[in-house]
Amino acid sequence: MNILQQQIKLMKRPLGTPKQEDFEFTQAPIGEPAEGEVLVRTNYISVDPYLRGRMNDVKSYVPPFKLDSVISSGVVAQVVESKSPHFQKNDIVTGMLGWQEYTVAEESAIRKIDTTLAPASAYLSVLGMTGLTAYFGLLEIGQPKKGETVVVSGAAGAVGSVVGQIAKIKGAQVVGIAGSDGKIKYLIDELGFDAAINYKTEDVKTALHKACPNGIDVYFENVGGEIGDAVLPLLNKFARIPVCGAISSYNNEEADIGTRVQGYLIKTSSLMRGFTVGDYASRFREGSEALAGWLKEGKLNYEETVTDGFDHTIDAFLDLFKGANLGKAIVKVSEIE
Ligand code: NDP
Repeated sequence: MNILQQQIKLMKRPLGTPKQEDFEFTQAPIGEPAEGEVLVRTNYISVDPYLRGRMNDVKSYVPPFKLDSVISSGVVAQVVESKSPHFQKNDIVTGMLGWQEYTVAEESAIRKIDTTLAPASAYLSVLGMTGLTAYFGLLEIGQPKKGETVVVSGAAGAVGSVVGQIAKIKGAQVVGIAGSDGKIKYLIDELGFDAAINYKTEDVKTALHKACPNGIDVYFENVGGEIGDAVLPLLNKFARIPVCGAISSYNNEEADIGTRVQGYLIKTSSLMRGFTVGDYASRFREGSEALAGWLKEGKLNYEETVTDGFDHTIDAFLDLFKGANLGKAIVKVSEIE
């Protein structure tokens, strides 16, 4: 096909907060699938904080993006032409694909999704990577028990909102920390959190003291920095801290220095453990089924902040660092037909 499509490439390694100039919209021909390949049209793109790490040239759990190359993340797409026996025209699929309007994907790089269970975009949110992150991080490392106090930061975002609701399902008292009064209201009124703290207008240490009279048994860490520090003096004996993310430091140009954690962990025999969702890849089916079950039973709510139009993909990514999203940030590129 000689028809051109738009793509987004990383052109510069961002210094501090990424800027529009670090990226470039380019045009390229839509490819033709060979045997075992499928041509798909992009419907939804997931924008995620962890992509910021991939823009740096440093060793991590995923390799850095190459400069002058198309950025990739979770995508929902529809099959336009299939040269694979496993896919048919109009199938709806998901995979880690490029920020472009069309992709020629190897059949092994995509999987079909069931849109009778939830709208397709949910496979980038509650039924996708962020839902699974919440599920495994909380249940495997956090292990909340009935009556315990669970605190989650980034609480109104994609991962945090699911963490809090699973903790409620497990019978815990849940306290969320987020960055606007609208988000605080959402956590309490819509998601049933027991308390929520606006870290931009309240003193987090004081507010946590008030919201957690029995101390903290689980702290699900999404943001790091001073919020993570504020939790430490309130840890109970044998507390658990799944360390999922530290978005407050992703744009720092210098090392983030804060409270020394050792004393707090020793005194309380607490466990602080980092993880990536990929650690649980062999159990994704179990996680997806549990999340889908809670969704069906009406025990799990989710919100998506959908930005319309491929042209606004970079804006949606940059907005993550301004707290513009409630629930999962997604870009809608085209309609599913
Ligand atoms: P979110 O949907 O939570 O979006 C990011 C949110 O972070 C913003 O809406 C904003 O909310 C908050 N935020 C931004 N800057 C700051 C800051 N300086 N201090 C405190 N909060 C800030 O993103 P995700 O749910 O996708 O990700 C949450 C965390 O989990 C991230 O750190 C991410 O990297 C990590 N992650 C880790 C995974 C893993 O496998 N370990 C997998 C997926 C995500 P607010 O208005 O509240 O400030």
